[in-house]
Amino acid sequence: MSFFNSAETMSRSSIEDLQLARLKETLEHVYKNGSYYRRKFDDAGVEPGDVKSLDDLSKLPFMSKEDFRAGYPLEMLCVPREELREMHMSSGSTGTPVVMAYTQADLDQWGECVARCYRMAGMEKGESVQITPSFGLFNGGFGAYHGARKADLFIIPAGAGNTDRQIKLINDFKVKCLLGVVSYGIRIVEVLKEKKLALPSLTTGIFGAESFSDSMREVIEGELGIEAYDIYGMTETGGIGTTGMDCKFHNGIHVWDDHYITEIIDPQTGKVLPDGETGEVVFTSLTRQAIPVIRFKTGDLTRIVSREKCECGRTTVRIDRIKGRCDDMLIVKGVNFFPKQVEQALLEIPGVLPHYQIIIEENNGVRDVRINVEAEPGVTGYMVEKHLKEKLGFSPAGDVFAPGALPRQEGKAVRVFYKNCSK
Ligand SMILES: [Zn+2]
Repeated sequence: MSFFNSAETMSRSSIEDLQLARLKETLEHVYKNGSYYRRKFDDAGVEPGDVKSLDDLSKLPFMSKEDFRAGYPLEMLCVPREELREMHMSSGSTGTPVVMAYTQADLDQWGECVARCYRMAGMEKGESVQITPSFGLFNGGFGAYHGARKADLFIIPAGAGNTDRQIKLINDFKVKCLLGVVSYGIRIVEVLKEKKLALPSLTTGIFGAESFSDSMREVIEGELGIEAYDIYGMTETGGIGTTGMDCKFHNGIHVWDDHYITEIIDPQTGKVLPDGETGEVVFTSLTRQAIPVIRFKTGDLTRIVSREKCECGRTTVRIDRIKGRCDDMLIVKGVNFFPKQVEQALLEIPGVLPHYQIIIEENNGVRDVRINVEAEPGVTGYMVEKHLKEKLGFSPAGDVFAPGALPRQEGKAVRVFYKNCSK
């Protein structure tokens, strides 16, 4: 078993000592060099010296996406502008974009985090990875690239789209690992079937940017004949892979805790929750320079699975795969559910294909859910409704479509649609 570096296997007490030392340095840095952070701390009546232990972190105020939006383009910067070497941003569906800027040290940190993910997925020096997110403002393509450079991999920088060419490249260059969004993996599966092709060299898939259910993982693993990994990270924490990935034992996401402190909070009260309880995950960066995050509320729901050593030998904290986003939770007729639960339930029905839409429709002031899903002949709307009723506790209308009938999207898949109403 191979590790990228020794930080992955430090003892818990050494990790915590290192976290506290780095936390103090980061707080001094942002307070001294970042006017945004100084103002935020002053408003909350706290200063870096108040943090004497890791528990004291809870005295500090939270940050959110809104801080990044208000700070557009570079108001949150904590280094002189001439030290910047790269930027990425995510637009999201509404409003001002979120920008992350990088010094050389930040790029090195990002590359190291992603390189650890590649090694964790079994990628050794000289093995080939095909990178399928676009090389542009979205951080996915370049993050995968910086990490692959650090891990000494052979890079096929395919970028987004042109699935026929992607398949040809994988076969011509005997690519071992594909990195992308999971819905793109599903798109490749579809084209392979249509053209009666296979990808014999491919053994590994690293998927990020959208959360996917265990049953979706099984579909993609079975169809592509690969092992799938769930890579985690967002623009605000520094991009893809910064906050970890699952290992081959798939018992939670290893968060690189020499670089980030993980807290789980009650999203309503902000109170830190005990290990094991589900809440919103909050990250504090320990090694980033240009735009560090202090108690950044991600909006993602998960729990701490363990702080014990994993079977793979890594000692980092492990969090569950993301259950959903706080603002993704759907409430229909008094029942709360996440799109991912619908996906999980749908794909348990034999013959159902991984293409579906969740339609929230309002009629006469009442919200209802309709599920459009593609399936092989033989699957009926009644079968879909009955299974969802058993699994989710309510009965949406289920409409079954022929394979290929629902629209396809490039990039992240949109699964939830609103009709006669909005979120
Ligand atoms: Zn592990």
